[in-house]
Amino acid sequence: MRFYWLRNVPRPRYPGGYTDGRTWFLPGVHCPLCGATGGTTANAYPSVDLSLLPAQEQGKYLARLEEDYAEFERLREQVRPLVPAGAHLWPGTGFGPMNGSAQGEFGPLVLVNPWELLMKPEPLQRLQAEGLRGLKGCRTALRFRKKNPPELLELELLPGGDLHPDCLSERPTPCPKCERIGLKRPEEPILDAATLPGELDVFRLAAFKTMLIGTERFVETVRRLGYEQDIAFRELPVRS
Ligand SMILES: [Zn+2]
Repeated sequence: MRFYWLRNVPRPRYPGGYTDGRTWFLPGVHCPLCGATGGTTANAYPSVDLSLLPAQEQGKYLARLEEDYAEFERLREQVRPLVPAGAHLWPGTGFGPMNGSAQGEFGPLVLVNPWELLMKPEPLQRLQAEGLRGLKGCRTALRFRKKNPPELLELELLPGGDLHPDCLSERPTPCPKCERIGLKRPEEPILDAATLPGELDVFRLAAFKTMLIGTERFVETVRRLGYEQDIAFRELPVRS
């Protein structure tokens, strides 16, 4: 099986765009153990609905910096039962629908930011009908100024797979306290065969959350159905 890195293209055919925004965030934090500070914007679970929490608690899940590490941990553990099993809860992780402002036209598959994959409903249904696994579409709440805005669904991508130690200067070990991994993405990534998930056709690398990976089945199906316009697929070597 071949694997491909999903990349955005410099001059998309459909030049639609949107600004960052999401309903809730785990706050950023300064980690007393590894010293990292702030939060990521590249990790999100759009299906997670925090409206179940009391309003006062919901109000704490904002894009902000939490000064009190114990409070950060409490907020993190409060939502852990709601996120998919195995999900990372890095500082800055987003929850709920994307809600930035959007403009322009969008193609069937949308990769404005290389770490966020959106689809229109019909292409998503067709890809699911082809038997591709791991395609969970979640509602977005993007704000368009125009009438009859397009419906876009965001894929909730689960972590799976890692890069091979041969392409890394050190092993990606998460900080035991804040779960962050402070490694820079290598120029020439190599996938570690033993870590690749067998049950997902598109997923997010566990340690390099900005990298979305599709299987050969995913890429072939997208190409055959003509959905490739605004996504480039870079094949990555796989090593065992
Ligand atoms: Zn840490």
